[in-house]
Amino acid sequence: MKCRHCETPLEHIFVDLGFAPPSNAYLTKEDLSKPEVYYPLRVLVCDQCWLVQTEDYAHAEDLFNNDYAYFSSTSSTWLEHSRRYSEMIVKRLGLNDKSFVVEVASNDGYLLRNFVAAKVPCLGVEPTASTAEVAEEQGIPVIRRFFNEDLAGEISAEYGKANLIIGNNVYAHVPDINGFTRAIASLLKPDGVVTLEFPHLLNLIEETQFDTIYHEHYSYLSLGSVRTIFGKFGLRVWDVEKIPTHGGSLRVYGCLMSSRFESSAKVQQVEQEEIESGLGRAEAYARFQKLVEEKAEAAARFFLDELKGSRFVAGYGAPAKANTLLNYCGIKPLLLPFVSDASTSKQGKFMPGSHIPIQTPQYLVEQSPDSIVIFPWNIAAEIRAELAPQVGHSTRFVSLLGPNAFE
Ligand SMILES: [Zn+2]
Repeated sequence: MKCRHCETPLEHIFVDLGFAPPSNAYLTKEDLSKPEVYYPLRVLVCDQCWLVQTEDYAHAEDLFNNDYAYFSSTSSTWLEHSRRYSEMIVKRLGLNDKSFVVEVASNDGYLLRNFVAAKVPCLGVEPTASTAEVAEEQGIPVIRRFFNEDLAGEISAEYGKANLIIGNNVYAHVPDINGFTRAIASLLKPDGVVTLEFPHLLNLIEETQFDTIYHEHYSYLSLGSVRTIFGKFGLRVWDVEKIPTHGGSLRVYGCLMSSRFESSAKVQQVEQEEIESGLGRAEAYARFQKLVEEKAEAAARFFLDELKGSRFVAGYGAPAKANTLLNYCGIKPLLLPFVSDASTSKQGKFMPGSHIPIQTPQYLVEQSPDSIVIFPWNIAAEIRAELAPQVGHSTRFVSLLGPNAFE
């Protein structure tokens, strides 16, 4: 396989997580009597541009045939993060009723509703009908398609070019990262800005957050690799912020090469940190597999110990990352009888691979488990604060990965 960005043949394996079904392929009861498709889950790193990327395999298009069940608005932490971003960026760029904002992967309108409220004209791009519908109900115009160069051209022709393009947690999910970047460059006004948020590869490595690896997540990005990709298509990064979302993300601010924005010192700082952590050398990547195996062993041991001690365990949250963890560790209903999730589109379904049933949060409270495993460890504090008053004092909350694992 060749690098999706620079076409260098890929020779280094970053991590091999065996085989797994697509992480968002939640199963209905009927699906349980059908065969389930597993794909290799291997991640490679390019030793030229250092883009960390999933291995190609047949039938990638199958991944998005399922009714994609993630609604951004189910997390209050995320809603607050989005509100603060909107307020900040409107001020920083001086956006007003003459501006034009485009959000790629606008989901259920969790972010653009802030721009509607501020009377800044905006447009969402979102291929998933179920979420796009919710956004439209809030008065947000949505084009129900995938973002690419053709669509960027059509938007330019119909609405004009953008003062701001927003991409939150989409850049890492696009298979054609070159085409996507070219599309951004073509849709920006001469002094337009693009902000992209993505989980920072440095955090993934340093905290061994291997559950954030799944098929739909094609790239694992550093500032260095993003600057390389931007540069190839006439864009540059002029500012960067470290933000706490998804276990530690970067928000990069990009513009056209010729644009007026001066580069912030933070860009050099963050890239320097990456270089000092070895992100420009193959050895830093080669160590990861061993670290993943140690974390997975600790997680599997937790479930076995609970079973041995006759303690009743349940899970909270059914995000894609839970499926990577459960499938790699081989956890089935014997060790984890059910998980619960606030999203109604997942309730009553089953986790892909493990076939663990998904119940409501109410059911979790009624069952009063001895231990509750919080799978979205990045918002564990929020979940714990909400659940703790509803369950017994003796209930233990635990995350298996992330900075507060097993505390
Ligand atoms: Zn490359």
